[in-house]
Amino acid sequence: MTDKTFSASGACMCGKVTYTANIKPGAGACHCGMCRSWSGGPFMAAHAEGKVQFSGEAHISIYQSSQWAQRGFCKVCGANLFYHLLPRPGLPDGEYIMSAGTVKEQQSLTFDNEVFIEHAPGWYEFTAPETRSRLTEAELMAMYGAE
Ligand SMILES: [Zn+2]
Ligand SMILES: [Zn+2]
Repeated sequence: MTDKTFSASGACMCGKVTYTANIKPGAGACHCGMCRSWSGGPFMAAHAEGKVQFSGEAHISIYQSSQWAQRGFCKVCGANLFYHLLPRPGLPDGEYIMSAGTVKEQQSLTFDNEVFIEHAPGWYEFTAPETRSRLTEAELMAMYGAE
């Protein structure tokens, strides 16, 4: 994954919620069942580094989707905004993974990873899989467990 971030701005569909963040260029797709029921397909993820500055925060609805993460969406237009890994030791703000479609600088993103690949239902696929990393759930968990 490319690590040099770019300064991004983003917004939900209706524009009531906007944000600025440092975003990593390497964007990904998560095929897990929760992401698919949340997004209608794989969640296209743009990883933020450090804090995300929101405005219009009153319009954000938070759903706690697991013990370790929350998902945020706009109450007005329903656009998915982020997957937030909750703070943990060594990561005081947690980690924000923004919905890639909300990032204004679309041309700065590249598609460089897929995760939970064995959860993909089989009726869609992305071309050129050899151009990016593709991890199963177990491989991804091993990476997080190893830190
Ligand atoms: Zn909105
Ligand atoms: Zn997922």
